[in-house]
Amino acid sequence: MIPYAKQSISKEDIKAVSDVLASDFITQGNIVPQFEQAIADYCGVTYAIAVSHGTAALHLACLALGVTEGDRVWTSPNTFVASANCALYCGASIDFVDIDPLTYNMSIKALEEKLLWAKNHQCLPKVIIPVHFSGQSCLMAEIKRLSEHYGFAIIEDAAHALGADYAGQKVGSCQYCDIAIFSFHPAKMITTGEGGLVVTKNKNLAQNIKQLRSHGVTKNSEQMTQTSVGDWYYEQHNLGFNYRLTDIQAALGLSQLSRLDAFVAKRRALANYYNEQLTSLPVITPQQSDKAYSCWHLYVIRLDLSQIKGTRKAVFSYLREQGIGVHVHYIPVHTQPYFQALGFAEGDFPRSEAYYQSAITLPLFVDLTTSDIDYIVRSLASALQC
Ligand SMILES: *Cc1c(COP(=O)(O)O)cnc(C)c1O
Repeated sequence: MIPYAKQSISKEDIKAVSDVLASDFITQGNIVPQFEQAIADYCGVTYAIAVSHGTAALHLACLALGVTEGDRVWTSPNTFVASANCALYCGASIDFVDIDPLTYNMSIKALEEKLLWAKNHQCLPKVIIPVHFSGQSCLMAEIKRLSEHYGFAIIEDAAHALGADYAGQKVGSCQYCDIAIFSFHPAKMITTGEGGLVVTKNKNLAQNIKQLRSHGVTKNSEQMTQTSVGDWYYEQHNLGFNYRLTDIQAALGLSQLSRLDAFVAKRRALANYYNEQLTSLPVITPQQSDKAYSCWHLYVIRLDLSQIKGTRKAVFSYLREQGIGVHVHYIPVHTQPYFQALGFAEGDFPRSEAYYQSAITLPLFVDLTTSDIDYIVRSLASALQC
């Protein structure tokens, strides 16, 4: 089976992990800070805080921005459920903004309309979480402009977008947001097994997140009420969590990060190859905005359902039978039973639902070959005739 995504692990990666295992510290040593500094340097941002999962990064980002009961958070329906759950963890309510039919990212027009409506009904959001779907950045300058007008904070869910560029800068530079988060799940751009990371330019947010990552305790003398008790002493000031990344994981991440630019180049080349090979088939290939330069976490096509005889399900099943691990990203979050129980209904965000009906994710990962793609495209051509 050709999977839809797969990590690329080198001998150097394995050595980096073994070296940590043979050292004195397998967690809370000096590799996590090295990994954080390397990501901060890569993104061109001041602070990076590594955490246990991308989901933990979203949770801490919301908490640091003060999201709590009675607050509203908006995100895209075309995302993994974690982008919405983080608001619910904080006791806030969640709502969605429908997607742009070309990029499948949050639509700026829909966002503008919804903000105007919310202002008139006095229910503006505290935080908006744009999701850089498939590795293509949202139009962040536009969202930033709206945040200044309406007074909401921005968390970029960049789980797909480490290594992507927007307006000439790396995603994660935090030029247009308060906080951005990454995920290092094996399907993502680089992996630490499980893992995530928060980046920000704001010192207070960074301090707060660092403290919440480790039980809300501090040894920082500026914050402590007593300082001369003894070396063992620490104080808890907030209700935090154990959301730490281990040095074992950070060593893998650091080693992977040294190949990130090569990973991105390879994915861009493979995506171009798909685009060329798919031109004669009745499918819609991914559209790119001219401001964003995707890192191609996912390669998603849409079937032109009016042009083919079969259904999306038939095409999907046929490809799976051919050993091609196609997938679908994403089931619109608001149609999940849990969210329906919160009051959302089918039809609430029609463009994300229409997109979902025709979308198929084709395999794309660093070690995929052009002959794999030839086989996938041939199989897709047969599937579309059946
Ligand atoms: C993977 C992912 C997450 C969650 O990351 P984990 O590391 O799996 O917790 C959040 N948002 C999006 C868009 C993702 O794809």
